Amino acid sequence: METAYIGVGGNLGDVMESFRRARDLLSEHAGISSLTSSRVFSTSPVGQNAGTGYLNAAFEITTSLGPLDLLDVLIQVEQAMQRRRHVHWGPRTIDLDLVFYGERLIQEARLNVPHPAAWYRRFVLDPVADLNSNVYHPTKEMTVMDLRQMLSRRPLRWLLLANDERIGTNLSEHLSEEFSGLIDVTWRRIDEPGETSSFEFIAWNIEQKLKVREGAVRFDDLPIASRLDVSLLTGDAYTAIADVIKAATDEPVVVDEL
Ligand code: ADP
Ligand code: MG
Repeated sequence: METAYIGVGGNLGDVMESFRRARDLLSEHAGISSLTSSRVFSTSPVGQNAGTGYLNAAFEITTSLGPLDLLDVLIQVEQAMQRRRHVHWGPRTIDLDLVFYGERLIQEARLNVPHPAAWYRRFVLDPVADLNSNVYHPTKEMTVMDLRQMLSRRPLRWLLLANDERIGTNLSEHLSEEFSGLIDVTWRRIDEPGETSSFEFIAWNIEQKLKVREGAVRFDDLPIASRLDVSLLTGDAYTAIADVIKAATDEPVVVDEL
């Protein structure tokens, strides 16, 4: 038996009703012996295709299913609820993500656990913390409560590590302007040594290149809590980083109980 946390999100149709149906379908599953839902939060959409009016929640389950079998069950429930998959990251009746599976670290082609974006998304962390603020993030080596605490600092201190001076300057200027008051941005060449301990976020490889400069600071040598590999994010660097900042700073608001 393992305790797992499922992130629940949606913004199409009667979202509360979708969340209830998903809860009921999962509770009835033979491999899931208990399910508790967080309260329901309203959040701002992240990403250009996301649409409006997102609700988020989390389920805490006790399960005998292995992680991949659990993922299959989540996908079945999404499909049972006729989630449309036309637009990548588009509006959806329901999205069920496996956020934590005990303290297991899973890196498979179809499954990454903890969910790679969970650590900086308030719309994931707040619902999980609503269930249990001591849930431990095994790669960040922090609890969800500590992660929330880290994200609530203003301004959030960002360090951009750039291969290219033009891109470094450009990105930091534009991000500072768009998120003025929320973040404080500095940039540095990726091969230039310097202090890395006073930032909430260190964006590594902002050019999203396959190969970084000779002599560059290695991702693995950066502080675990703050490092973010920009080449793994979707979209161009500006959009990708802006989406991280929105997810990290938009504060979810409790709107209802399930
Ligand atoms: P997203 O949740 O990123 O907005 P989708 O729900 O459409 O996008 O992506 C689903 C795919 O992501 C699944 O087919 C699954 O194989 C993969 N995936 C990888 N890790 C996870 C995870 N922790 N939880 C859910 N899906 C995951
Ligand atoms: Mg998903």
